[in-house]
Amino acid sequence: MSSPLVAIEQLSKTFQSPGQSAVQALTPIDFSIQENDFVTVLGPSGCGKSTLLRIVAGLDNPTSGRVSLNNKPILGPGADRGMVFQSYTLFPWLTVAENICYGLVEKGLSKTQQQEICQYYINKVGLKDFADHYPKQLSGGMQQRTAIARALANSPKMLLMDEPFGALDNQTRVMMQELLLGIWEQEKTTVMFVTHDIDEAIFMANRVAIFSARPGRIKTEIAVDFPHPRDYTLKTSPEFMTLKSQITEQIRQEMVDAFAA
Ligand code: ADP
Ligand code: MG
Repeated sequence: MSSPLVAIEQLSKTFQSPGQSAVQALTPIDFSIQENDFVTVLGPSGCGKSTLLRIVAGLDNPTSGRVSLNNKPILGPGADRGMVFQSYTLFPWLTVAENICYGLVEKGLSKTQQQEICQYYINKVGLKDFADHYPKQLSGGMQQRTAIARALANSPKMLLMDEPFGALDNQTRVMMQELLLGIWEQEKTTVMFVTHDIDEAIFMANRVAIFSARPGRIKTEIAVDFPHPRDYTLKTSPEFMTLKSQITEQIRQEMVDAFAA
Protein backbone atom coordinates (compact mmCIF):
# COMPACT_ATOMS: atom_id res chain seq x y z
CA MET A 1 0.00 0.00 0.00
CA SER A 2 1.27 3.51 -0.77
CA SER A 3 2.31 5.65 2.19
CA PRO A 4 -0.69 7.30 3.85
CA LEU A 5 -1.61 10.94 3.46
CA VAL A 6 -1.96 11.31 7.23
CA ALA A 7 -0.05 9.14 9.68
CA ILE A 8 -0.93 9.30 13.35
CA GLU A 9 1.52 7.37 15.51
CA GLN A 10 1.29 6.73 19.23
CA LEU A 11 -0.44 10.06 19.63
CA SER A 12 -1.77 10.98 23.06
CA LYS A 13 -3.13 14.14 24.65
CA THR A 14 -3.48 15.16 28.27
CA PHE A 15 -4.92 18.55 29.20
CA GLN A 16 -3.39 20.12 32.27
CA SER A 17 -4.98 23.34 33.50
CA PRO A 18 -3.46 25.15 36.50
CA GLY A 19 -5.10 24.10 39.77
CA GLN A 20 -7.10 21.31 38.16
CA SER A 21 -6.47 17.62 37.82
CA ALA A 22 -5.14 16.51 34.46
CA VAL A 23 -7.63 15.23 31.86
CA GLN A 24 -6.37 12.49 29.64
CA ALA A 25 -8.29 13.05 26.41
CA LEU A 26 -6.51 10.60 24.11
CA THR A 27 -4.57 7.44 24.92
CA PRO A 28 -1.95 6.45 22.35
CA ILE A 29 -3.60 6.27 18.94
CA ASP A 30 -2.23 4.82 15.73
CA PHE A 31 -4.28 5.67 12.70
CA SER A 32 -3.71 6.50 9.08
CA ILE A 33 -5.72 8.13 6.34
CA GLN A 34 -5.12 7.27 2.70
CA GLU A 35 -5.53 9.69 -0.14
CA ASN A 36 -9.19 9.83 -1.32
CA ASP A 37 -10.44 8.31 1.93
CA PHE A 38 -13.66 9.57 3.42
CA VAL A 39 -13.10 8.68 7.05
CA THR A 40 -15.72 9.44 9.66
CA VAL A 41 -14.67 9.54 13.30
CA LEU A 42 -17.58 8.44 15.44
CA GLY A 43 -17.94 8.30 19.19
CA PRO A 44 -19.83 9.51 22.24
CA SER A 45 -19.58 13.13 23.30
CA GLY A 46 -16.42 13.96 25.25
CA CYS A 47 -14.39 11.02 23.93
CA GLY A 48 -11.72 13.14 22.27
CA LYS A 49 -12.85 13.38 18.63
CA SER A 50 -12.42 17.14 18.39
CA THR A 51 -9.09 16.92 20.19
CA LEU A 52 -7.79 14.48 17.57
CA LEU A 53 -9.11 16.60 14.69
CA ARG A 54 -7.62 19.79 16.15
CA ILE A 55 -4.22 18.10 16.40
CA VAL A 56 -4.41 17.02 12.74
CA ALA A 57 -5.44 20.61 11.93
CA GLY A 58 -2.34 21.83 13.78
CA LEU A 59 -4.46 23.90 16.18
CA ASP A 60 -3.27 21.90 19.18
CA ASN A 61 -0.17 19.85 20.02
CA PRO A 62 -0.08 16.23 21.08
CA THR A 63 1.37 15.41 24.51
CA SER A 64 3.28 12.54 22.94
CA GLY A 65 3.51 10.87 19.57
CA ARG A 66 3.56 12.15 16.04
CA VAL A 67 1.25 13.21 13.28
CA SER A 68 2.39 13.83 9.73
CA LEU A 69 0.93 14.82 6.40
CA ASN A 70 2.72 13.45 3.34
CA ASN A 71 5.55 12.36 5.66
CA LYS A 72 6.06 15.90 7.00
CA PRO A 73 5.31 16.56 10.68
CA ILE A 74 2.22 18.72 11.28
CA LEU A 75 3.44 21.69 13.30
CA GLY A 76 0.61 24.17 12.76
CA PRO A 77 -2.37 25.01 10.57
CA GLY A 78 -1.78 25.16 6.82
CA ALA A 79 -3.56 25.77 3.54
CA ASP A 80 -3.13 22.07 2.77
CA ARG A 81 -5.95 21.35 5.27
CA GLY A 82 -9.34 23.00 4.77
CA MET A 83 -11.45 23.20 7.90
CA VAL A 84 -15.19 23.35 8.51
CA PHE A 85 -16.50 23.48 12.07
CA GLN A 86 -19.95 23.25 13.59
CA SER A 87 -20.25 26.90 14.48
CA TYR A 88 -20.44 29.27 11.61
CA THR A 89 -17.01 30.65 10.97
CA LEU A 90 -17.57 32.91 7.98
CA PHE A 91 -16.28 36.45 8.11
CA PRO A 92 -19.47 38.46 8.74
CA TRP A 93 -18.16 41.57 6.99
CA LEU A 94 -17.49 39.71 3.72
CA THR A 95 -20.05 38.53 1.17
CA VAL A 96 -20.44 34.86 0.20
CA ALA A 97 -18.16 35.37 -2.82
CA GLU A 98 -15.60 37.31 -0.80
CA ASN A 99 -15.58 34.64 1.89
CA ILE A 100 -14.95 31.97 -0.74
CA CYS A 101 -12.17 34.05 -2.30
CA TYR A 102 -10.51 34.84 1.03
CA GLY A 103 -7.73 32.24 0.76
CA LEU A 104 -7.26 32.96 -2.94
CA VAL A 105 -6.59 36.65 -2.26
CA GLU A 106 -4.03 35.60 0.38
CA LYS A 107 -2.37 33.34 -2.20
CA GLY A 108 -2.08 36.31 -4.55
CA LEU A 109 -4.23 34.90 -7.36
CA SER A 110 -5.40 37.34 -10.03
CA LYS A 111 -8.98 38.64 -9.94
CA THR A 112 -9.84 36.52 -12.99
CA GLN A 113 -8.50 33.34 -11.40
CA GLN A 114 -10.32 34.14 -8.17
CA GLN A 115 -13.59 34.65 -10.00
CA GLU A 116 -13.23 31.44 -11.97
CA ILE A 117 -12.62 29.31 -8.87
CA CYS A 118 -15.31 31.13 -6.90
CA GLN A 119 -17.89 30.60 -9.67
CA TYR A 120 -17.09 26.92 -9.83
CA TYR A 121 -17.56 26.27 -6.11
CA ILE A 122 -20.46 28.67 -5.63
CA ASN A 123 -22.32 26.70 -8.32
CA LYS A 124 -21.33 23.41 -6.75
CA VAL A 125 -22.92 24.35 -3.43
CA GLY A 126 -25.96 25.92 -5.14
CA LEU A 127 -25.43 29.51 -4.00
CA LYS A 128 -24.93 31.36 -7.25
CA ASP A 129 -27.87 33.68 -6.55
CA PHE A 130 -26.42 34.59 -3.16
CA ALA A 131 -22.88 35.59 -4.13
CA ASP A 132 -23.39 39.16 -2.90
CA HIS A 133 -25.22 38.28 0.31
CA TYR A 134 -23.67 38.59 3.75
CA PRO A 135 -23.60 35.63 6.18
CA LYS A 136 -26.29 37.11 8.41
CA GLN A 137 -28.66 37.08 5.44
CA LEU A 138 -28.25 33.32 5.00
CA SER A 139 -29.75 30.28 6.72
CA GLY A 140 -27.47 28.00 8.76
CA GLY A 141 -27.34 25.46 5.92
CA MET A 142 -26.37 28.15 3.40
CA GLN A 143 -23.64 29.41 5.72
CA GLN A 144 -22.21 25.91 5.99
CA ARG A 145 -22.39 25.50 2.21
CA THR A 146 -20.37 28.70 1.92
CA ALA A 147 -17.86 27.36 4.47
CA ILE A 148 -17.47 24.15 2.45
CA ALA A 149 -17.00 26.13 -0.78
CA ARG A 150 -14.44 28.35 0.96
CA ALA A 151 -12.50 25.33 2.20
CA LEU A 152 -12.55 23.59 -1.21
CA ALA A 153 -11.62 26.73 -3.16
CA ASN A 154 -8.11 26.57 -1.71
CA SER A 155 -7.60 23.07 -3.23
CA PRO A 156 -6.56 21.58 0.10
CA LYS A 157 -5.00 18.12 0.32
CA MET A 158 -7.80 17.26 2.71
CA LEU A 159 -10.88 18.54 4.47
CA LEU A 160 -11.14 18.40 8.26
CA MET A 161 -14.73 18.66 9.41
CA ASP A 162 -15.93 18.75 13.02
CA GLU A 163 -19.67 18.08 13.26
CA PRO A 164 -20.22 20.56 10.42
CA PHE A 165 -23.94 19.79 10.19
CA GLY A 166 -24.49 19.46 13.93
CA ALA A 167 -26.39 22.73 14.32
CA LEU A 168 -28.71 22.17 11.37
CA ASP A 169 -32.27 20.87 11.40
CA ASN A 170 -32.64 17.28 10.33
CA GLN A 171 -33.95 17.90 6.81
CA THR A 172 -31.19 20.35 6.02
CA ARG A 173 -28.63 18.04 7.55
CA VAL A 174 -29.67 15.17 5.27
CA MET A 175 -29.47 17.45 2.22
CA MET A 176 -26.03 18.65 3.27
CA GLN A 177 -24.77 15.10 3.65
CA GLU A 178 -25.86 14.35 0.08
CA LEU A 179 -24.33 17.56 -1.18
CA LEU A 180 -20.96 16.90 0.46
CA LEU A 181 -20.94 13.28 -0.61
CA GLY A 182 -21.79 14.32 -4.19
CA ILE A 183 -18.81 16.68 -4.19
CA TRP A 184 -16.58 13.96 -2.77
CA GLU A 185 -17.79 11.47 -5.40
CA GLN A 186 -16.67 13.91 -8.10
CA GLU A 187 -13.51 15.35 -6.59
CA LYS A 188 -12.35 12.62 -4.21
CA THR A 189 -10.90 15.15 -1.80
CA THR A 190 -9.67 13.28 1.27
CA VAL A 191 -12.01 13.92 4.19
CA MET A 192 -11.74 13.39 7.95
CA PHE A 193 -15.21 14.01 9.33
CA VAL A 194 -16.06 13.97 13.04
CA THR A 195 -19.61 13.20 14.10
CA HIS A 196 -21.60 11.61 16.90
CA ASP A 197 -24.41 10.74 14.47
CA ILE A 198 -24.28 7.08 13.50
CA ASP A 199 -26.42 7.42 10.33
CA GLU A 200 -24.25 10.28 9.13
CA ALA A 201 -21.03 8.40 9.91
CA ILE A 202 -22.06 5.35 7.88
CA PHE A 203 -23.77 7.16 5.03
CA MET A 204 -20.80 9.29 4.09
CA ALA A 205 -17.80 7.13 4.85
CA ASN A 206 -15.75 4.50 3.19
CA ARG A 207 -14.31 3.90 6.66
CA VAL A 208 -15.74 4.57 10.12
CA ALA A 209 -13.30 4.92 13.01
CA ILE A 210 -15.14 4.25 16.25
CA PHE A 211 -13.81 5.88 19.39
CA SER A 212 -13.91 4.45 22.87
CA ALA A 213 -15.19 6.62 25.70
CA ARG A 214 -12.65 8.98 27.33
CA PRO A 215 -9.72 8.59 27.42
CA GLY A 216 -10.32 8.12 23.74
CA ARG A 217 -8.68 5.71 21.42
CA ILE A 218 -9.84 4.28 18.13
CA LYS A 219 -11.49 1.07 19.17
CA THR A 220 -12.52 -0.32 15.79
CA GLU A 221 -12.36 0.61 12.16
CA ILE A 222 -15.19 -0.52 9.92
CA ALA A 223 -15.04 -0.47 6.14
CA VAL A 224 -18.24 0.78 4.51
CA ASP A 225 -18.44 -0.76 1.08
CA PHE A 226 -21.81 0.51 -0.15
CA PRO A 227 -21.41 1.56 -3.77
CA HIS A 228 -21.40 5.16 -4.98
CA PRO A 229 -23.21 7.31 -5.87
CA ARG A 230 -25.22 6.99 -2.69
CA ASP A 231 -28.45 8.75 -1.88
CA TYR A 232 -30.77 8.93 1.11
CA THR A 233 -32.57 5.69 0.21
CA LEU A 234 -29.43 3.81 1.30
CA LYS A 235 -30.26 4.68 4.91
CA THR A 236 -33.38 2.53 4.90
CA SER A 237 -31.82 -0.48 3.16
CA PRO A 238 -31.49 -3.72 5.18
CA GLU A 239 -27.66 -3.74 4.80
CA PHE A 240 -27.46 -0.22 6.20
CA MET A 241 -29.74 -1.10 9.09
CA THR A 242 -27.63 -4.13 9.97
CA LEU A 243 -24.42 -2.11 10.03
CA LYS A 244 -26.14 0.63 11.98
CA SER A 245 -27.36 -1.74 14.68
CA GLN A 246 -23.86 -3.26 15.05
CA ILE A 247 -22.30 0.16 15.47
CA THR A 248 -25.09 1.37 17.76
CA GLU A 249 -24.42 -1.59 20.03
CA GLN A 250 -20.68 -0.81 20.15
CA ILE A 251 -21.23 2.85 20.99
CA ARG A 252 -23.87 1.96 23.58
CA GLN A 253 -21.46 -0.39 25.28
CA GLU A 254 -18.91 2.42 25.45
CA MET A 255 -21.48 4.69 27.09
CA VAL A 256 -22.53 2.00 29.58
CA ASP A 257 -18.88 1.38 30.52
CA ALA A 258 -18.18 5.12 30.82
CA PHE A 259 -21.22 5.73 33.02
CA ALA A 260 -20.31 2.79 35.25
CA ALA A 261 -16.69 3.92 35.63
P1 ADP B 1 -15.51 15.26 21.68
O1 ADP B 1 -15.19 16.16 20.54
O2 ADP B 1 -15.40 13.81 21.36
O3 ADP B 1 -16.86 15.57 22.28
P2 ADP B 1 -13.30 16.63 22.98
O4 ADP B 1 -12.13 16.27 22.15
O5 ADP B 1 -13.88 17.99 22.81
O6 ADP B 1 -14.43 15.51 22.85
O7 ADP B 1 -12.90 16.50 24.53
C1 ADP B 1 -12.29 15.32 25.06
C2 ADP B 1 -11.96 15.58 26.54
O8 ADP B 1 -10.93 16.53 26.65
C3 ADP B 1 -13.14 16.10 27.36
O9 ADP B 1 -13.11 15.49 28.63
C4 ADP B 1 -12.85 17.58 27.46
O10 ADP B 1 -13.38 18.11 28.65
C5 ADP B 1 -11.34 17.63 27.44
N1 ADP B 1 -10.84 18.87 26.84
C6 ADP B 1 -11.00 19.24 25.54
N2 ADP B 1 -10.41 20.42 25.30
C7 ADP B 1 -9.86 20.82 26.48
C8 ADP B 1 -9.09 21.97 26.90
N3 ADP B 1 -8.75 22.93 26.03
N4 ADP B 1 -8.71 22.02 28.19
C9 ADP B 1 -9.02 21.05 29.07
N5 ADP B 1 -9.72 19.95 28.75
C10 ADP B 1 -10.14 19.82 27.48
MG1 MG C 1 -16.32 17.65 19.63
